[in-house]
Amino acid sequence: MAAPMPDSLAMLGDITEEELSLFSDFHYHELVASILNYKQGVGPIPKDFELLTWADRLEAQSDYYVMSRSSQTGDVARTMKQIDGDDAPLTIRHTKNILGFQRDVLGVLQISSIETSDAQLTELMNGFLAKYNISGDLLKRGRWDYMPFKSLDDVVSKRAPWRMWDLQGQQSTWFVGSYASFESVADVLDYNMKLVNNRLCDPGSPSPSTDTDYSETDGCGLAFPLSAFMWVTVLVSVLL
Ligand SMILES: Cc1cc2nc3c(=O)[nH]c(=O)nc-3n(C[C@H](O)[C@H](O)[C@H](O)COP(=O)(O)OP(=O)(O)OC[C@H]3O[C@@H](n4cnc5c(N)ncnc54)[C@H](O)[C@@H]3O)c2cc1C
Repeated sequence: MAAPMPDSLAMLGDITEEELSLFSDFHYHELVASILNYKQGVGPIPKDFELLTWADRLEAQSDYYVMSRSSQTGDVARTMKQIDGDDAPLTIRHTKNILGFQRDVLGVLQISSIETSDAQLTELMNGFLAKYNISGDLLKRGRWDYMPFKSLDDVVSKRAPWRMWDLQGQQSTWFVGSYASFESVADVLDYNMKLVNNRLCDPGSPSPSTDTDYSETDGCGLAFPLSAFMWVTVLVSVLL
């Protein structure tokens, strides 16, 4: 199951009690990504800037909601749990300067309440950009269910991540993606490599500890064909 939970539970035909218990609800933050065409007047920001980010705002931005699946209907609903009242941008990304895109577009990221309207988000964004003498027309916006996480109680007392690990491969099902690991491509990849190395190549191994780098595990999964290729190359070179 590489699609997000709890929505993806609907795709499982025969859901076990443990699957329901682990995947029926997740906490989320909403990430808003807006793309604007870019107009910059004279101001404090240099024309060749790439990324401006206000990471200290993240600490104050505590909006989160719970997505939960109804045990009666199977429908998934979002319920706001905390609204901090600060939905202003935390990052401005000048993609043209970073990646050399032809169009002069700007990306703006906000973490918001799901109850904040698009019009309010635009007003906040424009007001914030105006401080830096930046403006632009909104070309496209996406609002994502972002950074799925379990409550502290679910992690510490109910040991949800370790129970998910123990469930892997049962009923021919593997649970992967940011809801099983953490919201970054590197974490998703790292978790998937742990699964391949520990469950497909060495099925008897215990649950991963938090301080072991399983991506370095050798003699298994992707590592074996690569080392076999290397040895064949060396052998052929010696023979020639
Ligand atoms: C705006 C934004 C910026 C980000 N920037 C970064 C960054 O700079 N660096 C970084 O490391 N991470 C970044 N992330 C996070 C990163 O993109 C995610 O952590 C990563 O993509 C999660 O991978 P995933 O496989 O869990 O989910 P996804 O990549 O979202 O894949 C899930 C897939 O499931 C599909 N799907 C959903 N429902 C169904 C269904 N019912 N049936 C079939 N398919 C379905 C979806 O279409 C999607 O293709 C960013 C995320 C966002 C939203």
